[in-house]
Amino acid sequence: MITKRTTPKPSSGLSPALKQYFQAKETCPEAILFFQMGEFYELFFNDALKVAPLLDLVITSRQKLDDKPIPLCGVPLSTSEGYISRLVAMGYKVAVCDQVTVPGPGVSLAQREVRRIVTPGTVISAESGSPAVPRYLAALTSEKGSYALAAADISTGDVVIGQWDELPAFSAALASLEPKEIILESDAISLEHDSQAFDSQMSDSQAPDSQAPVGQAPDIQAPDIQAPISPTPVSQAPKSQKTDSLAAIKISGALITNRSPLEFEAQNAQNIIIDTYQSIPCGLSGRKLPISALGALLSYVRELTRGATLNHLAPPRVLSDRAALGLDEAAVRNLELIKNSYDGSEKASLLAQIDLTVTAMGARLLRDWLLRPLVDRSKIEARHGAVEVLSSDLLTLTELKSLLSKLPDLERSLARLTLGRGSLRDLLAARQTLDVAPKIKDLLALSPSDELKKLSNEIILAPGLQNRLKTILADDQGKDGLTIASNVSPLLDSLRDLEAGGRREIAAMEAAQRQRTGINSLKIGFNKVFGYYLEVTKTNLAAVPKDWIRKQTISGGERFITSDLKQWEEKILSAGEKREALETRIIENLKYVTAQKAPLLKNLASVLAQIDALASLASCAEKRGWVKPALSSDDLIDIKGGRHPVVESYLPAGETFVANDVTLSPKERLLVITGPNMAGKSTILRQTALIVILNQMGSFVPASSATLSIRDQVFTRVGAADDLAHGRSTFMVEMSETARILAKATPKSLIILDEVGRGTSTFDGLAIAWAVCEYLHDLGGRGVPTLFATHYHELIELARHKPLTRNYNVSVKRWGDSIVFLRKLTTGGVSRSYGIDVASLAGLPNSVVKRAREVLSDIGRQSPGLIRRKDQRLNLFTVAGLGQDGPTLLAREIAALKPEEISPLEALNILSELKRRASEVLT
Ligand code: ADP
Repeated sequence: MITKRTTPKPSSGLSPALKQYFQAKETCPEAILFFQMGEFYELFFNDALKVAPLLDLVITSRQKLDDKPIPLCGVPLSTSEGYISRLVAMGYKVAVCDQVTVPGPGVSLAQREVRRIVTPGTVISAESGSPAVPRYLAALTSEKGSYALAAADISTGDVVIGQWDELPAFSAALASLEPKEIILESDAISLEHDSQAFDSQMSDSQAPDSQAPVGQAPDIQAPDIQAPISPTPVSQAPKSQKTDSLAAIKISGALITNRSPLEFEAQNAQNIIIDTYQSIPCGLSGRKLPISALGALLSYVRELTRGATLNHLAPPRVLSDRAALGLDEAAVRNLELIKNSYDGSEKASLLAQIDLTVTAMGARLLRDWLLRPLVDRSKIEARHGAVEVLSSDLLTLTELKSLLSKLPDLERSLARLTLGRGSLRDLLAARQTLDVAPKIKDLLALSPSDELKKLSNEIILAPGLQNRLKTILADDQGKDGLTIASNVSPLLDSLRDLEAGGRREIAAMEAAQRQRTGINSLKIGFNKVFGYYLEVTKTNLAAVPKDWIRKQTISGGERFITSDLKQWEEKILSAGEKREALETRIIENLKYVTAQKAPLLKNLASVLAQIDALASLASCAEKRGWVKPALSSDDLIDIKGGRHPVVESYLPAGETFVANDVTLSPKERLLVITGPNMAGKSTILRQTALIVILNQMGSFVPASSATLSIRDQVFTRVGAADDLAHGRSTFMVEMSETARILAKATPKSLIILDEVGRGTSTFDGLAIAWAVCEYLHDLGGRGVPTLFATHYHELIELARHKPLTRNYNVSVKRWGDSIVFLRKLTTGGVSRSYGIDVASLAGLPNSVVKRAREVLSDIGRQSPGLIRRKDQRLNLFTVAGLGQDGPTLLAREIAALKPEEISPLEALNILSELKRRASEVLT
């Protein structure tokens, strides 16, 4: 999304700094410009008007342009990162224009340069976002029905690429990355609009292109607004096939950045990739579309960082359909893998339940493992093996966790160091990691788990760098304010001695002057304006010697200097300046040396992240009593005593979770699970899917035992959430998700379908549910393992026709007038629905419940086997009449109609109203 520019054209009489401002603004018109003025970043014109209310800043004005005051607001340099991060989180781009030279004698104007542009997809500061959530920048491209993406988390160096032949799979992969910013060729503009229309996260006032001059100060006029300028020329070419299809993707909450098609051009893309990685990384060679996307992405990041080397970027990981268990957006959402569905937070998600990592890197990786479970048996076994060893050796696990918990977020520190934004804290992070890593290496070197041994071997240390960081950086950074240790540089030590000696000298001078003047309250103080001074209270002014020079009057007295004092001051300050310059040089050099080792450190961080993720799975297995699943080559899902990991831990006090067995095999393909609402059907469905996913991410599972074959995809059709924002009714959503499942599922998938057909009338719904079951039962000649939960108890008839169908129910027991949920999955279907009992439990008034029972028994008497009746029309009328009071209300109304007097349109309206009411009665 392009921030429309509102800066006026400079006319005459501009101050030199403002001239520089306009020059800087021209290089990045789409961004909000933070312009350094000494100790502040200042924002001018509409940038100021727009940003001030967002960041709670005060608008002022110092200068005029064409007789109008120039609106201005500012933030201190020292706290600027927080402000920049907040703006970026709101979806804005921010350009930072720094003073690159210091004004000195004869040079009144500092040179300024835009040295970086921060965008939602490239922000790297420590203040930005949760460390456990990646921040991807993605570039998309497509050609002839094939779609590719490249995505990078610049703040950690993680890079992924992928190519798909189908839009839904591509779109699911993109959604799973939750990109913060998306790069498109500039003619793919329609995506921008679509995504904004679908964008639910950004309110109007936050939307970066909202140009309303919010919070405008009354006495300051907004400058004229110019036409928007895009960062790269927008192609005038007619919209291509490619852009139309990309436009079909819905992306919520991502900033869209349009780039020239040149950036995507094959040769350019290849060049910049080689420049970054020294060669075309494996997985990319010969793949035109991913190369084009990655090239566009790299060139954008280069431009924003003004040419940083980016050598912290890891070689791209290839995402593809076959490399991971397929989990589409609906599955991730319905199964609440990373967010719950009631408030969208991470609470009570599967991830929150299993994430016992102790490092930010491990947390990010575990999330990735959960969203992309494995399909390769040996890799799954390797993780299972590591989890088994660690969870059964608590001593090692505890020690390992205590070491891991000392690890800082090296990935993000490295990103800052390589992009020239590193701080002392990032160097300390590298030092800390290099100190802890050998201990982890040793601890796992002799592990009985091959995987852990392998990871131990992959911990490659950098003793040279470690030594350097250790010797140069002072051990205790907080103490004495020393950053650099003693004995690192003789020159530094002697400058420090000089400063300390000077300060001692000044203290001695204070004592001597007190003695000389007899003023006991005499103090020597220091400030930035006057340097060192002697301070005397009013009452003692008479005792001040003649050789003191008066400098300043303050409320309680006067300040003086002496030539001696100034001589020492000179010595101390010049030693101090030199020391600071030398320290900066040493630290900068250390940053450079550390950044040079980025590939090695990046690798180290990735190995440590894997160890942390495995340790987390082990803790989870151990703490929650999960078991190691047996991997089967037969087409089997056999779970004994399975539990839902989240429902289990959120049960109200006093309730215990009832474990259930589920078996799906070549002979039992389709389980039709009936039972009243609230019986626990969904829970069984979901826990089966979660157990399959946990198994394939390498985790143990919540069951007493499980034998599982590797699945290729997990599909879900759960609940009936309206997608009104996208203009689709519940039923439409339900059917399109079902359609997609039928099209994509294979006999190696697992499908859970909850109440399919609910969104329409009973007859339609039941008919559809029946047909869907038949289809899945027969698919590929083997059928797809499917759990089908339904309150259409008529579906139990299916087992008569389709041999791989098994009927189950989640049992309830009558208890006097009420029912008790047993939560137990038992064989056989239920032939009644208990809907009224559940309504009664939910607190419907007794009279209503009683009446409902009468109605129900009436319907039963009048229309046994309602569904199988051929003449449904007749049925509707008798049902509606409840069989008690002669002609029904509906029948009376229809009899009163006068077709000859009503228009065709009215007739149609009456017909749909009748249909609506009849459906209400029946569902
Ligand atoms: P249904 O799909 O049949 O309407 P749910 O699966 O949504 O029912 O379960 C309803 C509630 O019952 C859950 O929120 C949970 O509190 C409880 N519940 C479900 N299954 C179990 C179980 N196996 N053990 C204990 N409580 C359960």
